[in-house]
Amino acid sequence: ARAIADAGRAKPAITADGRRITVLLNIAAPEDLAGLDPAICDGIGLVRTEFLFEASQGLPDEETQYAVYRRILDWAEGRPVTMRTLDAGGDKPISGLTIDGESNPFLGLRGIRLSLSRPEVFRLQLRALARAAVHGTLKVMLPMVAVPSELDRARRLLDDEIEALRAQGIACARPPLGIMVEIPAAALCAGDFEAGFYSIGSNDLTQYTMAAARDIGAVADLNDTANPAVLALIALTVEAARARGVEVSLCGDAAADTSLTKALLATGLTTLSVSPVAVARLKATIAMVNP
Ligand code: PEP
Ligand code: MG
Repeated sequence: ARAIADAGRAKPAITADGRRITVLLNIAAPEDLAGLDPAICDGIGLVRTEFLFEASQGLPDEETQYAVYRRILDWAEGRPVTMRTLDAGGDKPISGLTIDGESNPFLGLRGIRLSLSRPEVFRLQLRALARAAVHGTLKVMLPMVAVPSELDRARRLLDDEIEALRAQGIACARPPLGIMVEIPAAALCAGDFEAGFYSIGSNDLTQYTMAAARDIGAVADLNDTANPAVLALIALTVEAARARGVEVSLCGDAAADTSLTKALLATGLTTLSVSPVAVARLKATIAMVNP
């Protein structure tokens, strides 16, 4: 049954005019991969690591994190896997970490800002990721980056942890370090970041560009990734990535919205990352697109 279900999904995604599109998976927990054949995708474009921190037992230790990251890399069988460091705050409160009662949590201490404010928590995650990197093609991505100094600070912490692991004789590898582009400032100045790669978070990029929250139904019409302002920021990011010679993908929900596929590919994007249930439909849509 699995073979039949996967038959359509296992084909590569190629546009009507013959362009190969890379299709990656978004997952929120390792269970999302249960029963899935890795051949349906070209890799994993977004692992939301928040699930590790949502469990009631408190913050996860290094071994727990390492084991989970390794399990996901094992599943991918060498395909690239992009893991995002903790993206707490905003719509993702985590007890013991995020600040209660911020007047506007979407504009507060969230994502990379929170990780940099809690270096003891962040360092542990970076160590676990550097150790897991030995077991596959791992890329590490930082959420909610606004300015280049955030990437630079995170890189220094990663460097420190790799040095410490080596000094302790613990196997590790240096994964490429990239950024999510989900704040308009980062899209407008994407070329200023020494990022190993870019991944556009269209959910947050749309809400911050349109000043229309992703979780408020009354402004849902304005929360529109097809708005020319949002598409222009996506195109700018793609251009900056090309100019720097690094990869760029889009991993927000817009990637799975097939009414947007043509517009997204028209920005120059050639990599989309979607939840496993969206793969078959996206590939079928790509096959009909003549961008
Ligand atoms: C996004 O903002 O588009 C994204 C992929 O991240 P999240 O939905 O987890 O904020
Ligand atoms: Mg986001």
